[in-house]
Amino acid sequence: MTNKPNILIVYTGGTIGMIKDYKTNALKAFDFSQIVDKIPELQQLNCNITSISFKDPIDSSNMNTSYYVEIVEIIEENYSKFDGFVVLTGSDTMAYTSSAISFMLDNLQKPIIFTGSQLPIGDLRTDAKENLITSIEVASARKNNQPVISEVCLYFEYKLYRANRTTKINAEQFEAFTSMNYPPLAESGVHLTFHEQYIYQPKKETAGLIVRKNLVTDVVILKLFPGITETTVASILNNNNLKGVVLESYGAGNAPNVAWFIKLLEEAINKGIKIINITQCAGGSVILGHYDTSVSLKEMGVISGKDMTTEAAIAKLMYLLSENLTTKQFKNFYEKPLRGEISNKKA
Ligand code: ASP
Repeated sequence: MTNKPNILIVYTGGTIGMIKDYKTNALKAFDFSQIVDKIPELQQLNCNITSISFKDPIDSSNMNTSYYVEIVEIIEENYSKFDGFVVLTGSDTMAYTSSAISFMLDNLQKPIIFTGSQLPIGDLRTDAKENLITSIEVASARKNNQPVISEVCLYFEYKLYRANRTTKINAEQFEAFTSMNYPPLAESGVHLTFHEQYIYQPKKETAGLIVRKNLVTDVVILKLFPGITETTVASILNNNNLKGVVLESYGAGNAPNVAWFIKLLEEAINKGIKIINITQCAGGSVILGHYDTSVSLKEMGVISGKDMTTEAAIAKLMYLLSENLTTKQFKNFYEKPLRGEISNKKA
């Protein structure tokens, strides 16, 4: 064994793993165990590459929390053997999956880079090769014998983002993701440039990796729109199993202040349902109490999701609901950054 970094590629499914059969012109699943043979460019990278694949790769529209657990278990089992991980998933739900994985792993000291592609790896104009090659480079990058990245990231089309800050914004352009409220951690051009000031620096912990696998799925995302009816909101909030709601409100966290709406939310909170307020704007933050239309939300105990993405908000809700916290602890934990998913400013 050399002292090159050891990188594990975890293939879960998605477009990236397809290759064209030139005889039939059909797309078929790519055998990731032969990745280095199929993409000879990978041999030029200064690392040892191993790959592992889901037995039955999935389209990421079928992603769910059991698959999240499968991903973290692969990482857990291989954590001590590898220096970095590249997780390939379909791009459709990649922001949700990578956000969730960021909460499921605590004390992370190694890079986990999610990537995928808009075109299959076997397509002539594919974006898959660049995404894969640079993700492996990022996962292998070291400075002073330490990994440059030790958090969960998403790399796509020349930009490395903190995963729990990302959203898929385009179904056809190669630039499929953005991170509106946090700058890229690295950019790839002629050089691969890391923006160190934005990269999470892990504490020199002695505690090892902590893996949390119990996510609570009795949650919902409720997006407001002008004209939403009392019957609709009531039928969602009166679901007996419901434990948490990500309320996508308007602008800086505003919602209708009509009596029926306030009453339904209050009743839900009194039943112990956690209500998280995030904005449906792509960028910016909730500021509870800034407008009259969010004062009652603040007073009744709605939790501020501040500048979190919907994807991070729902993942954090699933994670914290499994932690057996008091109402006060839940609010405190929810409103502070746990994995860099919230900006540290007053909101
Ligand atoms: N539908 C695919 C998926 O998310 C698209 C992609 O791979 O980007 O699995």
